[in-house]
Amino acid sequence: MTTPFIRPYEYNFIRTQADNLSRQLASVHDPDIRDAVIYSASKKVFDLIPAMTPEQEELLMRIKTIESEEELTDYLTDVADAVHGFPAVTEAELKKLFHKNKKLKLPDLARLDVESTTFLSWNDTGSGKKFFVYPLDGKIVGVEGRYVPSTQKGICSLCNNYSDVTLVSARSKGSSESYKVVGNYMCIDSDECNRHMTDPSSLEHFLNRVK
Ligand SMILES: [Zn+2]
Repeated sequence: MTTPFIRPYEYNFIRTQADNLSRQLASVHDPDIRDAVIYSASKKVFDLIPAMTPEQEELLMRIKTIESEEELTDYLTDVADAVHGFPAVTEAELKKLFHKNKKLKLPDLARLDVESTTFLSWNDTGSGKKFFVYPLDGKIVGVEGRYVPSTQKGICSLCNNYSDVTLVSARSKGSSESYKVVGNYMCIDSDECNRHMTDPSSLEHFLNRVK
C-alpha cells in the first residue's frame, strides 16, 4: 500500500481533473487535441504536489492513460487510498480548543469521514454557532463564528462551489483592543464544502484573520 501523501482537498482537485479529462476525451477524437487535453490535465495534477517520489508520481500520472470509465474508477480508488485524512482529534482536545465555550456542542466524531475532511466544521443550530477546526501551519486551531440559519444560493467563499450558503461572521483580532467582524458566505453544510474544496487558501486566510 502507498504511504498516504495526498490531502483530501488535493484528492478533490485530482478527481475533478480526472472527471473533466474523461468527459473531454469522450467527445474529442482529433489525436492532437486529445494529447493537448491529456497534457493539460496531467500537468495540473503534476504541479499540485511539489516533491513526489517516483512511486507517487507513477500513481498520479496514470491519469494520462485513463481510457474507460473503469480505468477512471480504478485510478480514483488508488488515489483515494493514498489520502491522509484529517488528523485524529478527541472530544477532550476539542473541548480544550473551545474552552471558553461552556455550552460547547461537540460533533459526532465517530461519524467523521476523515478521508474527505480537509477542515472539521459543524453547526450548533441551538446557539447559531459554526465551529471550525483545522491544522493551520502545523498547529490545530479552533474558531467559532455565528451563522444565519436561513440559507441562500450563492458561491461559497471557502470551496468556490455554487451551493446553499449562509453568512458566517467571526471576530477578528485587531491591532488594538478593538475587534472587527469578518463576514463570509459559506456552505451551510460543511461536509458538502469539504467534498468540493480543492484549495484551502481561502479557508486559511479566514482562519488567520479570526483565530
Ligand atoms: Zn463551501
